[in-house]
Amino acid sequence: FGGVAKEPPMHIVHIAVEMAPIAKVGGLADVVTSLSRAVQDLNHKVDIILPKYDCLKFSNVKDLGFHMRYSWGGSEIKVWLGEVEGLSVYFLEPQNGLFWAGCIYGCRNDDERFTFFSHAALEFLLQTGSHPDVIHCHDWSSAPVTWLLKDHYRHHSLGKASVIFTIHNLEFGAHLIGKAMAYADKATTVSPTYSQEVAGNPIIAPHLHKFHGILNGIDPDIWDSYNDKFLPVSYAADNVVEGKRAAKEALQQKLGLKKADLPLVGIITRLTHQKGIHLIKHAIWRTLDRGGQVVLLGSAPDPSIQNDFVNLASQLHSWHNERARLCLMFDEPLSHLIYAGADFILVPSIFEPCGLTQLTAMRYGSVPIVRKTGGLYDTVFDVDDEKDRAQSQGLKPNGFSFEVADAAGVDYAVNRAISAWYDGRDWFNSLCKLVMEQDWSWNRPALDYLELYHATRK
Ligand code: ADP
Repeated sequence: FGGVAKEPPMHIVHIAVEMAPIAKVGGLADVVTSLSRAVQDLNHKVDIILPKYDCLKFSNVKDLGFHMRYSWGGSEIKVWLGEVEGLSVYFLEPQNGLFWAGCIYGCRNDDERFTFFSHAALEFLLQTGSHPDVIHCHDWSSAPVTWLLKDHYRHHSLGKASVIFTIHNLEFGAHLIGKAMAYADKATTVSPTYSQEVAGNPIIAPHLHKFHGILNGIDPDIWDSYNDKFLPVSYAADNVVEGKRAAKEALQQKLGLKKADLPLVGIITRLTHQKGIHLIKHAIWRTLDRGGQVVLLGSAPDPSIQNDFVNLASQLHSWHNERARLCLMFDEPLSHLIYAGADFILVPSIFEPCGLTQLTAMRYGSVPIVRKTGGLYDTVFDVDDEKDRAQSQGLKPNGFSFEVADAAGVDYAVNRAISAWYDGRDWFNSLCKLVMEQDWSWNRPALDYLELYHATRK
């Protein structure tokens, strides 16, 4: 990648509908922020265009001010400029109220809202005379950027920008994703294994020549146990045992769990079919059987799943009040304390394009227990079964994994993990240190993206 590092700076504009921490639903939000920061750190100019939702977490936006206004699509659009995590963000606020809905997704006209936003974002770039080298859009929600750019802006200088389209999850909005695959100059998805898993999909298959799997990274400054205001004691690999002990006690205290030295399994997830709901439930019972503690932080967009977990929570809280806590909400500060206070983070997904939770877990010295799928397979190497596969990537094994999505599969991984905790604390502690020292940041993947950006320059 030496060549890429020496190329002149590029101007990259992300058009996205999520951005951590101000408008976050899932991993897409983290990726927009952390990839942008990594590329900006390599001396390129990066801007982000985001809808100005009424539900933005404004407290995390610095120096928000009115920037300009323009008319488009039968509406006046106010543009605000602010800084988020060191990035310049342009917030589009159409006065037709499309983003005054109290939510990011979940309106019956989401397709229309985000197509309007995609087009309005291109119009903003045109009207401000912007000449980005690369426009990067994400998932179905900003997929229309790919064809709107080529269909409406070809004769403008804006049309010289190349357009990169990243699929974070093929399950959503597939009707829009196929067209974007055809129009994009390059398309990516978020891990090599997921790119192979979806290669046969009729939406993807015709475009394999321009389709690349690039692993997501995490931002080491945003997720940093040494500098995390939500933790009681700051820690790094050399005092991981002390740091995690303090975090576990704080977590037990906060949630009213028994303050005891027990193996603690954490789960931080959207509660959807993708995340392996039946496997999560089974793992909770298995962990309790083995004398461990469980903390689940999960939000369910589907009310029937939410209901199901509310019932499970009341059952668990009455039978195992000192050892199980289900927190059925979205809570970023609590997620930090769980990443730090848990011994294990469980991610038993049915499919997983990349998965960030296992990477964040490792950054906080928690050992991942995962199902072998997508990005989980690319980042977690079983301590018993996958020494060779790890070594072939220049890595040491770093977790526990299982293949088959059933109770026996979960048991195979969870039982070995908990036994290792009970029977070999020194070994287990050295594993916590080892996972903390592995580099799952953007250091490497950001260069892969830069290489791709360069390859599309006209
Ligand atoms: P996905 O994008 O499919 O939801 P990822 O693993 O890529 O899954 O990203 C999930 C992100 O959302 C992680 O940063 C995780 O910490 C966070 N997260 C998920 N559920 C919650 C929750 N209930 N509260 C706080 N953070 C959550």
